[in-house]
Amino acid sequence: MNIHEYQAKQVLKGYGAPVASGVAITSADEAEAAARQLPGPLYVVKSQIHAGGRGKGKFKELGPDAKGGVRLARSVEEVVTNAREMLGNTLVTAQTGEAGKQVNRLYIEDGADIDRELYLSLLVDRSVGRVAFVVSTEGGMDIEAVAHDTPEKIVTVAIDPAAGVTEADVATISKAYGLSGAAAEDGKSLFPALYKAFTEKDMALLEVNPLIVMKDGHLRVLDAKVSFDGNALFRHEDMKALRDETEEDQKEIEASKWDLAYVALDGNIGCMVNGAGLAMATMDIIKLYGKEPANFCDVGGGASKEKVAAAFKIITADPRVEGILVNIFGGIMRCDVIAEGVVAAVKEVGLKVPLVVRLEGTNVEQGKAILNESGLAITAADDLDDAAKKIVAAIG
Ligand code: GDP
Ligand code: MG
Repeated sequence: MNIHEYQAKQVLKGYGAPVASGVAITSADEAEAAARQLPGPLYVVKSQIHAGGRGKGKFKELGPDAKGGVRLARSVEEVVTNAREMLGNTLVTAQTGEAGKQVNRLYIEDGADIDRELYLSLLVDRSVGRVAFVVSTEGGMDIEAVAHDTPEKIVTVAIDPAAGVTEADVATISKAYGLSGAAAEDGKSLFPALYKAFTEKDMALLEVNPLIVMKDGHLRVLDAKVSFDGNALFRHEDMKALRDETEEDQKEIEASKWDLAYVALDGNIGCMVNGAGLAMATMDIIKLYGKEPANFCDVGGGASKEKVAAAFKIITADPRVEGILVNIFGGIMRCDVIAEGVVAAVKEVGLKVPLVVRLEGTNVEQGKAILNESGLAITAADDLDDAAKKIVAAIG
């Protein structure tokens, strides 16, 4: 789960990280009052969308010469003018894809005088099985390009979970940045604080790009991107409350409500399966016969008829789906329950594309009978190979 920059900064502030004061607004009428709460004379107007690269992004409606999604303003009036121009428009960045994202919220922040822009992130480094700091002096820009062109400028510091962030770790990070004076002092509390936030809140990624050294010599978290480990969210009701569903794929939200594993892909055959292994095999065999899966929805073990129906509806809601392949091996999951769910969903939402069903395992005969007697245009398949051939042939 991802959250907005202003929320991430609030979380980090709770751990003592230095962030600017700021106010989030959702309408331009709030801009003036928001700016007046800040000291000035420099303000920053920041688009709040779940995507990075906002500064270099372009608003679709404003043409190529307009300013980007992060703007400096030198008066309250300028804050208001920018807020009016930005809110409601669609920001296209390197991370949003061509469609862009509508900016429905702005964060008005106290502006900083920047001396240096640094890069910092915390992530789970699977190669060493530890949480690691990734640091670079090349902050504020595209870190993927730095990693590609000048990998020597990226330093990784893995943290021993028993010891936490030690003085030696802090010194290594400080040295990599070339920090001295007030900034080095700030680092002594900031780096352990970020690690604490990361581990206590079960984050999957914490990226501060840039972390800045200000003209006054102190450090500040200028940008913050946080995503949480979805499997640990049940432990963090306070973080769950920060979820902004308008930023997420509607089908994935619906799937998560039903505890379904739904993954959107690029092809045009929708797949309903049970189990990750069968999902992979189903996708492989679709590709073998020359087509691509549009998605897969894994209904898991003992799913109910209602859950199967929900899965079917999610798959059919994707306009790219030209055909559906249901491939279930009933072990704990019973084939008759799958069949009942599919029939119920088809009766409710209709069937506009070819549907091939391959069932095997527990209660397979009852399952097939339910499909045959439903009067619906469902093509039965004998095995995985037969099923893939039939769905590929059906969509032509
Ligand atoms: P991103 O483009 O989505 O990564 O958004 P950032 O929050 O990283 O902002 C982009 C850039 O805007 C930063 O790298 C800075 O160069 C600039 N910027 C953001 N906030 C300030 C600020 O308070 N003062 C100044 N001078 N520049 C800022
Ligand atoms: Mg940034």
